[in-house]
Amino acid sequence: MDYEAIVLGGGPAGSTAAALLARAGQRVLVLEKERFPRFHIGESLLPYNQAIFAELGVVPALEAAGFPRKYGAQFHLGNDTRHRRFEFRQGRFTRYTETWQVERAVFDELLLNNARRWGSEVREGWAALRCGLDERGRWVEAAEITGGKPVRLHAAFVVDATGRANFTGNQEGLRVVHPQLKKVAIFAHFHGVRRDRGEAAGDTVIIRLARGWFWLIPIGAEKTSVGLVMDQEDLARAGEPPERVFERHLSQARPLQRRMERAERVGPWRTTSDFSYYNRRLVGPRLLRTGDAAGFMDPIFSAGVFLAMRSGKLAAAAVQEALKQGTDGRFLLAHYEREIWRSMRFYWRMVEGFYTTPFLEIFMEPRENFSLVSAVNAVLAGEVEGGWKLRWRLELFFALVRLQRRWALTPRINFDASTAPDPFAFLSRGFPQKAMK
Ligand SMILES: Cc1cc2nc3c(=O)[nH]c(=O)nc-3n(C[C@H](O)[C@H](O)[C@H](O)COP(=O)(O)OP(=O)(O)OC[C@H]3O[C@@H](n4cnc5c(N)ncnc54)[C@H](O)[C@@H]3O)c2cc1C
Repeated sequence: MDYEAIVLGGGPAGSTAAALLARAGQRVLVLEKERFPRFHIGESLLPYNQAIFAELGVVPALEAAGFPRKYGAQFHLGNDTRHRRFEFRQGRFTRYTETWQVERAVFDELLLNNARRWGSEVREGWAALRCGLDERGRWVEAAEITGGKPVRLHAAFVVDATGRANFTGNQEGLRVVHPQLKKVAIFAHFHGVRRDRGEAAGDTVIIRLARGWFWLIPIGAEKTSVGLVMDQEDLARAGEPPERVFERHLSQARPLQRRMERAERVGPWRTTSDFSYYNRRLVGPRLLRTGDAAGFMDPIFSAGVFLAMRSGKLAAAAVQEALKQGTDGRFLLAHYEREIWRSMRFYWRMVEGFYTTPFLEIFMEPRENFSLVSAVNAVLAGEVEGGWKLRWRLELFFALVRLQRRWALTPRINFDASTAPDPFAFLSRGFPQKAMK
């Protein structure tokens, strides 16, 4: 056997799994098709990432990187009629209350180097081409992307962490795309975006429009990531370049216009598809799918990196235990799969809700009856192991959302109110031309 584990992909899921397995003394190979540092989207973390950072031993390196600290998240309606800030430390059930916003090129390289530091062999610029099973265990055919001859490598286990490339899931035809969440994202990095004062300066700011939403994420002392998520069909119908569509939607997002009055774009416009999906199976014989290679959901609640790292950690634990037992670990893998489903469903339900008005109406009205706000706060921070005390509160939250469909428990949201004159228009005059250069 060449390795105990081959990890396909060196993003957050892959580098977490590799670091933990190598630290446990296993021979680990990471195949990463890109050369780091490379751009990646997904810049806002969740506080519960901190526990995993501590386990990986990367907290000092992350501190030194100087990323902005994130203490909360804001949700605004584009017409400025409602807004809501969640401050993680105010949640009764929230055990970790702050984290960082990151530039992924830097963050991902730091994590991959950490996997190296613990002893993983990392081959950058190597793509997995095929993966299969034989009497010896798992094999992976891989080649250098510069055109090298494919080689066949053997391992007891393979961890698929190929992100939305969804390598083994596609190979096995397992991907199921959410029919209502076929989104697309248009985004860029900017300098000069106005930040809030104090701790709120590091918040993720979400601006919900009638159709679509913007994110604003401060990822450096100067740099801010700003993006628009909308239905892919709407973009196709618009028949305009993505940056024009971004600009048009910006005029419906007053809280963002104000913040971007002096913004200047410092990176290229980028567009990516943002389809939510899951694979019908998350494990196979001696194979575990992690992170986006298990499933991907719309990034509204910034859970992607946290779920990716958490699944990388759980995959490493399952593989480590199976190796210790000297078995194929089928029961351990089945347990892993159940756990990943459970945590994915948690956010999946919230994401589906976010695109419905009754959910927003309840979500945007803070009422601490039965500690509901605390429960939502904990979920937004990454609490997926909160047990029954969290679960019944979330069930109650969703019951209120169902009631809200028929009876207005909280005031109705009116997206058309955006036609009223913008009292802050004088602040945003001149922005689009400057930012769209
Ligand atoms: C528009 C948008 C905004 C987002 N915003 C956020 C956010 O704010 N916060 C958040 O937490 N998440 C966000 N996400 C989600 C986040 O990007 C992902 O959930 C996260 O990156 C998943 O990590 P991963 O390790 O599973 O995959 P990735 O980070 O995608 O890593 C996969 C790696 O595998 C490599 N790879 C692929 N195929 C192969 C192959 N055949 N062989 C070898 N290597 C291969 C790739 O090069 C890549 O480096 C966003 C996603 C989108 C689309």
